[in-house]
Parts: sequence; C-alpha cells; structure tokens
Amino acid sequence: MTPLERELVAMIAQNGPISLETFMALALGHPRHGYYMAREPFGAAGDFVTAPEISQMFGELVGLWAAEMWTRMGRPDPVRLVELGPGRGALMADALRAARAMPGFREAIGVELVETSPALRARQRERLAASGVEPVWRDRLEDVAAGPAIVIANEFFDALPVRHYVRAADGWRERMVGLGGDDALAFGLAPYVEPKIGLAAPEGAIMEVSLVAQGVAATLGRRLAEQGGAALIVDYGYAHGAFGETLQALRAHAYVDPLKSVGEADVTAHVDFGALTRAAREAGAAVYGPIGQGELLLRLGLVPRAERLGRDADEAGRASLVAAMNRLAGTGAGEMGALFKAIAVAHPALGPPPAFEPAGETA
Ligand code: SAH
Repeated sequence: MTPLERELVAMIAQNGPISLETFMALALGHPRHGYYMAREPFGAAGDFVTAPEISQMFGELVGLWAAEMWTRMGRPDPVRLVELGPGRGALMADALRAARAMPGFREAIGVELVETSPALRARQRERLAASGVEPVWRDRLEDVAAGPAIVIANEFFDALPVRHYVRAADGWRERMVGLGGDDALAFGLAPYVEPKIGLAAPEGAIMEVSLVAQGVAATLGRRLAEQGGAALIVDYGYAHGAFGETLQALRAHAYVDPLKSVGEADVTAHVDFGALTRAAREAGAAVYGPIGQGELLLRLGLVPRAERLGRDADEAGRASLVAAMNRLAGTGAGEMGALFKAIAVAHPALGPPPAFEPAGETA
C-alpha cells in the first residue's frame, strides 16, 4: 500500500466512502502525497510524455498563436499571458522565445502560471529563469490579475476530477470509493438514488461529468468576455458526450488500476469538450472548435517551422524533427493529431482565432 492509500483507507474506515471526485482530487492533489505534489511525472523516464516535451515546435507555434491574438486584441499593454498547469515549463519557455518575433509583445507580457504543485513550481522557475521573465504563480485562475489575457492550457483539464453516476435498477447512483472485503479501496455505489437526474438510460450505463472542469471553463469564459482576451485549450477528449467512462491511471507508460498505486500513478479522464464549450458560452464567451491537434499545428505552420529548424540540423536532427511532426500531428495509432483536440475561447468581438477560421479562410 502507498502512504496515500493507507491514509484514504483510514479516512474511509472512520467516515465512510468518498466520491470518485474526492478520490481523484486527493490522488492528484493531496498536499503531501498527491501525484503532482512531490514528483515530476513527465518525460521518457516518467509516466507520460506531453506535446511540449516531444518537441519545441509545439510551444513555439502556441507562442505565435498568442502573438497573433495579441495584435487582434489591439496590442494591449500590459497583457497577461496565463498558463494553466504548466508542468515543467517547456511550453511557456518555447512560446516566449517564439513571441519575440512580434515586436512589442514580449515587453507587454506579464506571465502568470496557475499551478498547485510546489515541486513543479520550482521546476517552472528554473526553466523560465533563462527566458528573462519573472512569472507570478497562482493557485487558481480566479487569482490572476485583472485585464486582457491570453490563456493556454495543455493537458490541464484532463487532470481535473470527475464524478460518475451509474444507472441502477431504481435510478442514478453516484460512484463512491469505499473499502472492499480485504480492507483495500474498492468502488461502490452511493446508498441513495440521485432524485434530480431523470435521464433515461439502460441499467449499467455510466455518466461521467466534471463539474470542476465546467467551473473553470465558466470562469475563463466570463473573464474573457468581460475583460478581453482568448484561450487555447488542448487535451485528449471527445466533442460529443455519450454514456461511458474514461477514467484511467498511468504509471511508467502503462495502464494500472486507479485504486492501486494511489498517489503514484497519474489519474485522468478524457475531456468533454462539449461540456466545456457550453459552460464558456453560457458565461458570455465565443467558443471555436474542437479541431484536431494535427489540424491546429498544421494550420499554425508546423511544416515550415520544421523545415526552418531542419536547415540548421544534421541528418539525425532532421529525422527526429520528422518523427516529432508525425507524433504531434499524425492521425495513426500512437499519434496525437486526432486523439488530442483543441478549442479556442474568446471575447465575442475578436472573431475566430488563428487556426479556427472556417475552412477556406485559413491564414
Ligand atoms: N501542461 C504541461 C503539464 C500537464 S500535467 C504539459 O503539457 O507538459 C498537468 C499540470 O496541471 C501539472 O502541472 C499539474 O501540477 C497541474 N495541475 C493539476 N491539477 C491542477 C489544479 N487543480 N490547479 C492547478 N494546477 C493543476
């Protein structure tokens, strides 16, 4: 048993089962033993690899997107460049380097990083020290300084906790984490039916919802609609919800039981882009997409960017650029181009952001 598993078992023995949402929030964010709190889970040696860790091109293209957005916003100074869940800081470092191409942008930027993990904050500080900007760290999006903002989130929303409701014979019951016969963590159902869910579905159907993710999308949409700006959200997920669950735990690049290795495996759920879109729209913002990550990167100039970098590279370097391009934008098995999707959230007056223009009008 991991230390966190022991702590949860004791807590449940004392107070009864906890919701899946609470379980996931603690598995990732427990102040001492949470997955993101003490360790650095990324990279080939870690549990998973993210797009900005695969190639500098990802962050560079996002930086160009931000620079173009800034001119469309009327070049506000100052402008907040905000990243939600910046991991090791690779995306922001690459984006800031690319942003130099837009005169005046770098000077106008105040970087704000929304990050709960002290270990990752330290890593981000190191990584960004070389870029000559002094970031400010925030616990929550709500704490970011007021004013026009450009917000980036890559693989952030998939780390926000979900709830499951399971259709039992007599109605919908919330999925709980309790104790099994051997006093280990085990899934169960709430003793009471949720009277407010009237949805018809066959027995055994599962409904997965992230009220936390919807809450962040609403906060983001409200802020952008009231104070100006745009956000780019990239994650693995689906456009239209269906019944079913997508909870998964990853450790050393392999799937594990989410109730084992608690605090030592990354627990995520696929992002419901439809739900994020509705929440941000209801809050007053315009939402575009989803489009595939491959489409996003190709429209932002992935191929010319790779060609440019390839000119200064040797043969091995060029081969790795091609491999990175395929991994990021390809749509085959193991490639991220279609599995990962992007939406843009923006002040309604700005119109569709770069890469989200209707087909035929692409810049
Ligand atoms: N964007 C990075 C890292 C993705 S991992 C990349 O693409 O490589 C998820 C990130 O979100 C981590 O930095 C994690 O610490 C952070 N995070 C997870 N839940 C969070 C929360 N509720 N509030 C703020 N940050 C959170």
